[in-house]
Amino acid sequence: MNQQHSNIDKSTKETLHAEVLVLGSGPGGYTAAFRAADLGKKVLLVERYGTLGGVCLNVGCIPSKALLHTAQVINEAESMVKQGIHFGNPKIDLDQLRSFERGVVQKLTRGLSALAKKRSVQVVHGTGRFLSPHSLQVENGKEVQGISFDQCIIAAGSHAIKPAVFPWDDSRMMDSTGALALQDIPDHLLVVGGGIIGLEMACVFQALGANVSVVEMTDQLMPGSDQDLIRPLHKYLKAHYEAIFLNTRVTEIQVQKRGLKAYFEGSGAPEASIYDRILVAVGRAPNGKTLNAEAAGIHVDARGFIPVDKNQRTNATHIFAIGDIVGQPMLAHKATHEGRIAAEVSAGMNSAFDARVIPSVAYTDPEIAWVGLTERDALDRGITYGKGVFPWAASGRALGLGRSEGVTKLLFDPETKQVVGMGAVGVHAGDLVSEAALAIEMGCTAEDLSLTIHPHPTLSETVAMAADTFSGTITDLYIPKRRKK
Ligand code: FAD
Ligand code: NAD
Repeated sequence: MNQQHSNIDKSTKETLHAEVLVLGSGPGGYTAAFRAADLGKKVLLVERYGTLGGVCLNVGCIPSKALLHTAQVINEAESMVKQGIHFGNPKIDLDQLRSFERGVVQKLTRGLSALAKKRSVQVVHGTGRFLSPHSLQVENGKEVQGISFDQCIIAAGSHAIKPAVFPWDDSRMMDSTGALALQDIPDHLLVVGGGIIGLEMACVFQALGANVSVVEMTDQLMPGSDQDLIRPLHKYLKAHYEAIFLNTRVTEIQVQKRGLKAYFEGSGAPEASIYDRILVAVGRAPNGKTLNAEAAGIHVDARGFIPVDKNQRTNATHIFAIGDIVGQPMLAHKATHEGRIAAEVSAGMNSAFDARVIPSVAYTDPEIAWVGLTERDALDRGITYGKGVFPWAASGRALGLGRSEGVTKLLFDPETKQVVGMGAVGVHAGDLVSEAALAIEMGCTAEDLSLTIHPHPTLSETVAMAADTFSGTITDLYIPKRRKK
């Protein structure tokens, strides 16, 4: 062991050493740990909670998508009335739904523990904090464990922002974890924040029978997204929710016996009103300030992010960082990709983050998906672009699903005709975006997409048809040719 590794606090027992220490077991951390082990490294994985998988598996992507599937089935059954099929009101057994949700999570987290064992990745449960550039202390309430390491990968993730002005001691106040616990179905639910978490959870509670109101401080839901994609979502939500207040903030929440009284401010603000529960989803912040990172000489910025280079190295070159803790977008698939790179670089491989794009999907009803350049971004940055749009009202599959409000939009470089971005709204829009991600990575042109035979009748055809619309070869729409002067 290197001499500099022995700088451990006297009160801790130095019993463990890792060639690669991974701090945090979310999608970034477990991927990094498993990849490093597969590359022959002696790996130790530190996780403060009792199960592996981080936010994503335990209280994020996985449980939320399990509940969103339930919501989708309820909504679809209800929409069948238009086709003359009446299922009636659903009878909801919340205990059973909750145990299904937990069962899905348990299968995955137990699977991770088994995979760690098979790879001889040693898991230490407890909260880690750096003691020096080559040592960490892990505390779990009962004991303190010292660990020395040659290299480290920080994958400690992020946490929900909980504005201090709100009465968090009241059990009717929820963050996303509280909402996923599904304690009951409130009669009236207020969702503060019209971003991805707020809208996904609103969708779940609305389908389960709650009267949902959403309050968003900016002038549109999911700020930053293309307005033409948000419009069908907004219209659909407006028809199904109690209210959507834009340009509005909640200034105060008063605890009352019969509910939580919210006060609003802003151009769209309503009168103060009482809700049975309030979900606050106003963003997430990185955990960089919680690790005593300065003891290891790691630079953490003012917001708590840890800056890294394209090899995922921090300023301390034997320490890497990945996932939510290194910056936006805070997405599981970005964390996984970065975890792989950090592990490979730590094992001496020449890997780097050189992906051109990271796709995003909001699993709302309807879904919104985008990848690469967005039209809003192009307009804001003065980037010239070509565009092909295919409305789902002309898609046989969308009509058959009874959901023709969708749109598929592709953006192209006007010179090379290469795909530079895609956005879509509609049911299952998230399943379409990978094709555009691949197209952008491979440098495909509009013609490449048009001449790729897509199966009929699928929603995936709308991607090829958007390319056809841009090229002027579309036959499923009639677009009058401009007259030559
Ligand atoms: P995390 O998953 O946050 O894992 C970090 C781990 O580090 C945690 O287990 C934590 O306990 C541990 N840790 C932190 N500090 C310490 C310490 N000092 N010692 C020991 N352990 C520590 N993303 C998507 O791509 N798709 C989705 O559909 C999606 N849905 C989401 C839904 C919700 C409700 C939420 C909240 C998030 C969702 N996300 C989704 C975001 C996604 O969960 C995160 O981007 C992802 O989990 C980040 O992975 P990570 O590995 O960086 O960190
Ligand atoms: P967000 O940043 O996506 O949305 C927060 C919203 O709250 C914004 O629209 C913001 O304008 C609004 N807001 C902030 N303060 C407010 C206030 N005082 N009053 C009213 N509105 C206010 O954050 P989030 O929804 O909490 O999600 C956090 C992150 O988790 C996402 O950015 C994403 O990276 C990740 N996530 C991803 C998925 C997915 O990929 N499907 C799902 C859930 C979460």
